Amino acid sequence: MDRGTGMSTNAELFERAKRAIPGGVNSPVRAFGSVGGTPRFLVAAKGPHVTDAEGRELVDLVASWGPAILGHAHPEVVQAVQDAAAHGLSFGASTPAEALLAEEVEARVGPVERLRLVSTGTEATMTAIRLARGATGRDLLVKFDGHYHGHSDGLLVAAGSGLATLAMPGSAGIPEAVAGTTLVVPYNDRAAIEAVFAEHGDRIAAVIVEAAAANMGVVLPDGDFNAFLARTAHAHGALLISDEVLTGFRVSRAGMWGLEGWTGDDAPDLLTFGKVIGGGMPLAALGGRRELMELLAPLGPVYQAGTLSGNPVAVAAGLTTLRLATPGVYDRMEHAADVIEGALTEALAAEGVAHAISRVGSLFSVAFREEAPRSFEEAKAQDAFRYPPFFHAMLDAGVSLPPSVFEAWFVTAAHDEAALGRIVDALPRAARAAAA
Ligand code: PLP
Repeated sequence: MDRGTGMSTNAELFERAKRAIPGGVNSPVRAFGSVGGTPRFLVAAKGPHVTDAEGRELVDLVASWGPAILGHAHPEVVQAVQDAAAHGLSFGASTPAEALLAEEVEARVGPVERLRLVSTGTEATMTAIRLARGATGRDLLVKFDGHYHGHSDGLLVAAGSGLATLAMPGSAGIPEAVAGTTLVVPYNDRAAIEAVFAEHGDRIAAVIVEAAAANMGVVLPDGDFNAFLARTAHAHGALLISDEVLTGFRVSRAGMWGLEGWTGDDAPDLLTFGKVIGGGMPLAALGGRRELMELLAPLGPVYQAGTLSGNPVAVAAGLTTLRLATPGVYDRMEHAADVIEGALTEALAAEGVAHAISRVGSLFSVAFREEAPRSFEEAKAQDAFRYPPFFHAMLDAGVSLPPSVFEAWFVTAAHDEAALGRIVDALPRAARAAAA
């Protein structure tokens, strides 16, 4: 299956891509840098499976890094996309479905009274930060070490995910003056937050936090850490931005808000969404209280715009995905996570491999250490060398895991018993590889 490339093997495709594209990829983690070997070039995806250019079908635990909660290419989502595309790919004008998608999110997520659609999670967090600065008239932003909020300048400071994998301190090309407006504190460290507010409280516009950290592996918020952040920020006249790009509509029908239900002073002021909200198409959003959101142009002084914002094909995919995401979908994802978590623990324990699984809803990852990490420092202090052999043993057995120990595993509602069985069967050999 070469889909017109005139080539067939993953290795040949990677060589060709490297001659045309920096590193052969359009997002760094895809290059398999931290696990080694040749990345798979995918040509199709359906339900719980992806198919590579060599025609090999793999059980997928990447799910496009989160969006595919229903499984890949759900027939009703594909139909909605085809119908929308048939009426026009992009108008650069408002369409009726945009308000329907906003209403769907506002009905689910309490603190969201208004929603603005953008195209990527990066844009959503970037705009939320600009809005927080515009609303408070302050410059500083607090972020957590190991949290990833996209690749805008002020956020690529000790960020996690691909950067953690590549072990880079940040990124070249970011002016010191920009980086200097971000304060980085350790996750789950209440004393550090209090200290940063004690020192800079009157200059801090906002704290941004992943609602549950999932870009350094999954690292759960301790107790009411999210509500603590909201209260602390508010006490100093700052805002809390809860980044639900990854957790939104995945860990529950209403994301992390659906699990923790923050209200009043405990609630974040702005929330960002991506991934699931676009159903696999480029779509993301930010939302929050009406009076804050109405500071955005055209009503207010905070500028934001986008040629493809609210793109009709993407909105069709997102709206259909959210409408199909019934409680039963979340039950099936939780079941898949239960089965994999149980088998993973059993396989690693049988080989005597120290490990800890952190999980929220159906979202989880394994760390090769005794205790579940609570911070980026702790997430890095693990036997990460065990992951590449584990990863490749799973891949050889037909299971596609995220190509980095610092990424979450993503199940879908389409992971049926057959797909789960292939994962479970593959785990003992992979655990042996990890033990070696
Ligand atoms: N925020 C979080 C929590 C994410 O996980 C990501 C991407 O993985 C982003 C923001 C950036 O989203 P995008 O890759 O769509 O720009």
